[in-house]
Amino acid sequence: MKEKILIIEDEKDIVKMLEYNLGKEGYRTISAHDGESALELARKEHPDIVILDLMLPGIDGLEVCKTLKSDTKTSTIAIIMLTAKAQESDKVVGLELGADDYVTKPFSPKELTARIKAVLRRAKEKEKLPEIFSIGDLVIDFAKIQVEIKGKPINLTAKEFELLRTLIKVKGRVLSRDFLLDNIWGFDKAVEIETRTVDVHIRTLRKKLKSEAGRIVTVKNYGYRFEAD
Ligand code: CA
Repeated sequence: MKEKILIIEDEKDIVKMLEYNLGKEGYRTISAHDGESALELARKEHPDIVILDLMLPGIDGLEVCKTLKSDTKTSTIAIIMLTAKAQESDKVVGLELGADDYVTKPFSPKELTARIKAVLRRAKEKEKLPEIFSIGDLVIDFAKIQVEIKGKPINLTAKEFELLRTLIKVKGRVLSRDFLLDNIWGFDKAVEIETRTVDVHIRTLRKKLKSEAGRIVTVKNYGYRFEAD
């Protein structure tokens, strides 16, 4: 399926122009006209990329960028900023805050599409894991979906394997239970009983990892991370 793009821009003509041109390229688009609803939409819809205008009513674009990048639920979403020529310094701040690229207004749809493709390609490359991952007694073959401890194969369920893969993929960053539920089980809103699902799976996964169980670290009241050092 083609990637989903969230357009955050208060100028409706630009939104329309982008929806039309990106739609023509096969992308799915959603849009928000102010910072607040944009953040809500980003959390709910998990777009692959955000086109973010810096000049917005209410919460401005830089604040939106900062908030997206500091929330584990949205921090992996790529961001391309739209800036005016006069906003040189904002551009630098935006990139420091974790934006992936910027396009200066006025811009052509062609230029923006090229940037989108490049950013998405880079994001995909970053996501890629080596086929074989090994640390301590643990060896994982991601291509064959096989896990070994001290050379002996262990049997993980599909969910346990997915959990392990997801935790390793972000290289030690903490992932919340909500994030894991959403990404592995596909639950959008987690209620108590569902959050416990994650804990139960973590427990069985740890048991199976034996000598390497300690690599899955509990972060109290939040979630889990994979200890790689
Ligand atoms: Ca604007």
